[in-house]
Parts: sequence; structure tokens; C-alpha cells
Amino acid sequence: MTAPRARPPAPPRVGFVSLGCPKALVDSEQILTRLKAEGYAIAPTYEGAELVVVNTCGFIDSAVAESLDAIGEALGRNGKVIVTGCLGAKDGGGFVREMHPKVLAVTGPHATAEVMAEVHRHLPKPHDPFGDLVPPQGIKLTPGHYAYLKISEGCNHRCTFCIIPSMRGDLVSRPIGDVLAEARNLLRAGVRELLVVSQDTSAYGVDVRHRTGFVDGRPVRTHMTELARELDRLAREHGAWARLHYVYPYPHVDEVIGLMADDVSAGGLVPYLDVPFQHASPRILRLMKRPAAPERVLERVRAWRREKPQLAIRSTFIAGFPGETDAEFDELLAFLDEAQLDRVGCFAYSPVDGAAANALPDPVDPEVREERRARFMQAQAAISAARLAAKVGTTIHAMVDATRATGRGRSRRTVAIARSAADAPEIDGVVRIEDGEGLAPGDVVRVTVTGSDAHDLDARRSPA
Ligand code: SF4
Repeated sequence: MTAPRARPPAPPRVGFVSLGCPKALVDSEQILTRLKAEGYAIAPTYEGAELVVVNTCGFIDSAVAESLDAIGEALGRNGKVIVTGCLGAKDGGGFVREMHPKVLAVTGPHATAEVMAEVHRHLPKPHDPFGDLVPPQGIKLTPGHYAYLKISEGCNHRCTFCIIPSMRGDLVSRPIGDVLAEARNLLRAGVRELLVVSQDTSAYGVDVRHRTGFVDGRPVRTHMTELARELDRLAREHGAWARLHYVYPYPHVDEVIGLMADDVSAGGLVPYLDVPFQHASPRILRLMKRPAAPERVLERVRAWRREKPQLAIRSTFIAGFPGETDAEFDELLAFLDEAQLDRVGCFAYSPVDGAAANALPDPVDPEVREERRARFMQAQAAISAARLAAKVGTTIHAMVDATRATGRGRSRRTVAIARSAADAPEIDGVVRIEDGEGLAPGDVVRVTVTGSDAHDLDARRSPA
């Protein structure tokens, strides 16, 4: 008679709270991937976990408050908490420890190894790891059909309103071979859209002097244009989309425009650029410590559109920066009118603890900041509405994100919520496909645009 085989021990359970931007999300995915690879289970509730990791954001005051609340809630409902992420870097971890002295450990962003070391210390890893439970693409927090691809960490700029460089350090580019291997794994696992993120995508490889890496045995430079070319090729091989975020308008970006797909139905790099302009007044841009040549920027935008008329440009701006006069705000509105951007986000300036801009003279009254932000967004809504109205009657391709049933009985039907190549997930508009029966997330369909509003399109499927 053989002795019954011992059952493997139940895996230790870790709870996870992920806050912040897509870069933080990628950090969360990497930590979750390591946890699963080592045999930890991810608990969906605080009470069901033996320890909780909170990945924080420290970008603006509201994000700091949200992060502190999340830590407090995890401490209250679980008690064993490890803090990571941007807020953890503040004062070398001192800020979080001061607010929540009971946390077990605090690390900064992009610190998978440190977080795992703390997890091992406070909840020792299981003897029998189930590494084979982890899919090759790792654990993704985004819906299965799109994924963020982080190409670098940190930033060499020193914008006066931002404390990211003090939290995340100078630019560190990931090896191009690693980035493309991850991209390939994601695509093979069924991801239909890759979203390239970083603090400054155009600067990719500057820190390593664009050294040559290897991709499938081929030499490839660590450079944004090479990365874009390789991603375009990979995406086309899989009929998937690749999209570039946080692109600064350096001259070499012009080369990337030529790589963008004219027909996105076959996949590839989509004609879309997310370029954070922040302002248009040369004096305010200098105070922000950002390149100050709005005229050249406009020329470049016009040249890009001449080359790729379907190019969609998204940007972000700050209204009410310290010292911004009425005339300078009007310059910003005039720039917006001239640039006719497709998608725009605008923040009312919010002083971030530790940012150099806090010391600038002539702060703008908070009510005026908010009023300028609202005026700016109103102006953009009119631009966006006109640009979208011009698409009514045209045929475009859209990727489905979700479907939902509407109506009852015989009038019951399925509407698909999709995006065109001009829309990034979560931040831009949607395409509502009225006849969405049979569609699934990740499907790319040909549709005719039937209506529009300030942000979104309505459409019906059209024969291929
Ligand atoms: S480019 Fe400026 S705003 Fe962006 S992360 Fe770097 S310092 Fe911050």
C-alpha cells in the first residue's frame, strides 16, 4: 500500500490595490506576475488576504489623498500592508510612514524586486511554486484585447510643475529586445492593441546612447523610430494595432509619421500621436521649463497632417499656471484654434507638493484657474464636435471594446462600444455600433458613421 501523497500547501494570499497612471499599472502587472509565478494567490478582498500591496500615485493632491485613503482602508481591514509606487518615493518613504506608521514597508515606483523582497519577509513564499500557472504574457490588468507596453522609466526633463523625475529618477530605457519580446508575447496571447507608454517616448534610448540591441538575432538600435518600425511590423504580422503615447515633438518624430498605417484594417502603427503640449505661450512654457517654440510646433503639426491626413493628435494642457495672464491664456486658446487637435485634456493648475512651480510669483486664483480650464474645454468641445461631424457618412474601422444589450422583447438588440484608430482606450471617445450582434472585444469591423456629438460617433456595420 502506498502512502497518500501530501497535498500541496494552500498558497499564501496577497491582496492588491492598483492606483495611478498606465505606467503604475504596468508596475502592478509586473508585481502580480511575479507573485503568481512564485505561487502566491491573489485575493479579491482585504479580508481574504494575508497581506495587501498598495501601488500608489503621488502626481496631484487628489491622487495623494486617494492613495492615503487606500492605505488606511487596507490597514483597517487587513492590517499587513506594503506600499509601493510614486507616493512611496516621497521623502524616501518618510511621507507615507508619517501618515501611516503601521505599514510594513514602503518602496518607490518600478520596484518589483524590492516589493517581492518585502512580501517574502512578511509572507514567506510557498515551498512548491506553481510557476506554470502564469501565462507567458504575464498578468494583465487591462481587458484582454489591449495592453500597455512600458518602454522606459523616469525622465530627463525637469518641468517645474512635475515631481516625477524626483520620484522615478532620470530616464532608464528598457532593452529593445526585451520590449519587443514582451510585445510579441502579448500579441501571441491574443492582445489586439499595444499602447506604448513612458514619460517621454521620443527620448527612448537616449540614456544608452541608442545602443544596438538584438531582436531575433537582428541588430536593432534602441531608438524611438526603430522601435516604431519593429512594433509596426509585429502588429501587422498579428493584424493588431500599436499606438504611441507621450510623444514629444522632436524632429525624428517626423520619420514615424511615414510608418503609420493608411489602412488600419490590416493592423500596424495607427495614425495617432499623443503629444503633451501643456501650453502655447512662450513665456509660460519657459516658466514650465519646456521647449518654447509654439510656431514651430504648429508648423510640424501642419506638416504631419499634410503627410498623413487621417492622423489624430491628442494633447494635454494646463490652464492657470502661476503667472499666466489673460493675454497668455488667450494665446493658448488661439493655439488651440489654429492646431485643431482631435482630442484634448486640460487640468486646472494644481500645486504639487515639492514642485518647483510652487515658488513662482503671481499664482492664479483657483477660481480663475477652474474657469479658464472650463473655457478651454468648451472651445475644444466645439473643435472636436466639428471634426467628428466631418466623419459622418464616411467608412472607418473600429475595434470593439465591449458589447451591451439594450431594449426588451422584440426591440432587444446589442450595441457594441468600439473605438476608431483615432481613439485610445479610456481617454478618448467611442464609436457606438448600433448593430453589434455577434461582435466580441478585440474585433475590428468596418462601419459607416451615422452620427456624432462632441466626443463620440454613432455607426452601423458596413459590408467589407
Ligand atoms: S516630461 Fe516633464 S511632465 Fe513629463 S515626466 Fe518629465 S518632468 Fe514630468
